[in-house]
Amino acid sequence: MRTIVVLLVAGLLGYLAWPWLGPRIDHAVYALRLSMSEAPVRVAVPVEGVGRRGLVDTWGAARSEGRTHQGIDIFARRGTPVIAATEGLVARIGENRLGGTVVWVYGPGRQRHYYAHLDRVAETLETGDRVAVGDVLGYVGNTGNARGTPPHLHYGIYAMGGAINPYPLLIAPEPAASPVNPAATGTAAEPVS
Ligand SMILES: [Zn+2]
Repeated sequence: MRTIVVLLVAGLLGYLAWPWLGPRIDHAVYALRLSMSEAPVRVAVPVEGVGRRGLVDTWGAARSEGRTHQGIDIFARRGTPVIAATEGLVARIGENRLGGTVVWVYGPGRQRHYYAHLDRVAETLETGDRVAVGDVLGYVGNTGNARGTPPHLHYGIYAMGGAINPYPLLIAPEPAASPVNPAATGTAAEPVS
């Protein structure tokens, strides 16, 4: 009898707490899945309407204060949507001296994606939001140390060991479609008899 009462109370509390607890569990499970998945070999161009062939590799170029460029600049008209290059979780939305208005997305393979110099952040975007490739994060601008330069997105990828060049991932070819029926290719192992 006592056990039944305890189970009923626990069940009721779980039921009442679920609207609060459920999304947090989903969030934690998704963050764990992201951290355990492979880092991408290809990412989407994070500015709407810009093709892969329009990109220029500016990794390592000299910058102010003796820094080198740790990302790629993608030029577009002010207000052009900046879209997620990968899926992930919005880790931070904020302002900093160099980047201006910025969004950080935690993506697959424990990489962090940095979107900087935004004119503004997407109206409904919040820290903790789950985003898919192509979701709007904000709009191209020239905030931070880009003030006075033509509007562009600074896009950076930070892996566990530090910044990596996004350019090779941006221009990587689309993976070849896997054969619908592997057996039909003749490469399937023959049973040993
Ligand atoms: Zn830049």
